[in-house]
Amino acid sequence: MRAMSLAEQLDTVTASTAGTVDRHATAQTFESTNPATGAVVGVFPVHDAAAVAETVEQARAAALAWADLGHDGRRARLTAFRGYLARRMHELADLVHRENGKPHADAILEITLAIDHLAWAGSHARKVLGPRRVPAGLLAANHTAHLEYRPLGVVGVIGPWNYPVFTPMGSIAYALAAGNAVVFKPSEHTPAVGAWLAAAWRAAVPDAADAFQVVTGDGSTGAALCRAGVGKLAFTGSAPTGRKVMAACAETLTPVLMELGGKDAMIVDDDADVAAAADAAVWGAMSNAGQTCIGIERVYATEAVYDRFVAEVTAKARDLRPGSDDDAAYGPMTMASQADVVRRHLDDATAAGGRVLVGGTVDGRYVSPTVIVDAPETSAAVCEETFGPTITIAKVRDAEEALERTNANAHGLAGAVYSGSRARAMDLARRMRSGMTSINSVLTFASVPALPFGGVGESGFGRIHGEDGLKEFTRAKAITRKRFSLPVDLMSFGRPAQATDALARVMGIVHGRHR
Ligand code: NDP
Repeated sequence: MRAMSLAEQLDTVTASTAGTVDRHATAQTFESTNPATGAVVGVFPVHDAAAVAETVEQARAAALAWADLGHDGRRARLTAFRGYLARRMHELADLVHRENGKPHADAILEITLAIDHLAWAGSHARKVLGPRRVPAGLLAANHTAHLEYRPLGVVGVIGPWNYPVFTPMGSIAYALAAGNAVVFKPSEHTPAVGAWLAAAWRAAVPDAADAFQVVTGDGSTGAALCRAGVGKLAFTGSAPTGRKVMAACAETLTPVLMELGGKDAMIVDDDADVAAAADAAVWGAMSNAGQTCIGIERVYATEAVYDRFVAEVTAKARDLRPGSDDDAAYGPMTMASQADVVRRHLDDATAAGGRVLVGGTVDGRYVSPTVIVDAPETSAAVCEETFGPTITIAKVRDAEEALERTNANAHGLAGAVYSGSRARAMDLARRMRSGMTSINSVLTFASVPALPFGGVGESGFGRIHGEDGLKEFTRAKAITRKRFSLPVDLMSFGRPAQATDALARVMGIVHGRHR
């Protein structure tokens, strides 16, 4: 059989999305375009509030059946889904390349990570969330105590465009594994990828097709999802939009998960492997055109290693070339407006005394690999999320000063420590004010499904991935069951007057001796 061309694949995706949403008729449409060429990638419906509400209602019905499947039933279907994704990985990677702009190889890496998380979530949900007995304690010794984590119903997921597969799947996979249905609103810049994922789900899991649906549109569609009565809203995006999402969700007391931006730092200590640190810094800062929430945006290198580190980084950065071809190191900025942010940060840094050692040019959507030194800590390039292929490097007295500067930022998503001493590195990592830190590598924590992912401060709250990520999409349910009656029931108006005196004496003996 002839392989489908990309254009045909996209037609299929667009048609299947339209099929999903035909039931929620909406006249308005929008186009997503290839950031490198401007070519139209797909045409998608703009779901208004009524269409979003209908989709959520449909998902609500599907959620009951999905929950009833139990952990084993869901695990089997999540396995089928990941099998489907793995078999069509190149097809999806082509689509990611065309709609987001990143190189095909980077798209493959992203999809691989998402599949691994799907596998972990599906196979660990029972152990992490399933019913268990817990000790009932002294006061309820005649009862058994039971704990389990129940699904929330429908989870709304709003995702960004920079990792259009991996990032939303961090919520979608864990929410589905926990027994919820999901309604996903992809970024208006990557709706085709979102639609492809939903179409893949319908094809791989036909008997629970409505358990994962997609609505498309702009911010107003996302806002409608916040108000649609979902059990939880998992948001990944910028802090300003996160605030709007929280405000909308507050109207209905809908709980939220906030995965927001970062300004992650790398600390390079005196005894670090400087060449390895430089290599990782360049990858961490510039892969995906720097559009990585956990990308390295600033480096603090100690006096002992600063000169060597800067020399290594500049040499490596000079070798990189952005483009849309197979050999390009990274692609164009996915959003034209992001190039303007990068330009503003560059101008601000140089106006304040920063020196551009490599790059510093913005040509349309292509930003050259850029290395900046001597930028003041107060400049936008050091304080604010740049989200471009740029890196600032500052010289510090020692690792303590590096940590102090790292922790002074309002964001706290992730970071990296390069050090030759295991104990020293662990100590710095623990004290770094962030949700995740990798030692002697960058971004590694994101590829460990058992580790939770999320930030502090301006980087948000709540966790995806790992046990915490499964529990994030559940409510803890506590149950006690009386095994036998005691002669005296303390929680009865019929209790004798001396009963609480006797209780006070027992508690005095058990606890009163502790000082
Ligand atoms: P935005 O905040 O602009 O948008 C995120 C999502 O929210 C998009 O789907 C967007 O839709 C939607 N949206 C916009 N307005 C509203 C609204 N009023 N109500 C509800 N939803 C709305 O972020 P970006 O897409 O630009 O993503 C980049 C940001 O995401 C960066 O700050 C990055 O650091 C962060 N990020 C964080 C990650 C993490 O895990 N912590 C991972 C990846 C990215 P539309 O696009 O259609 O406007």
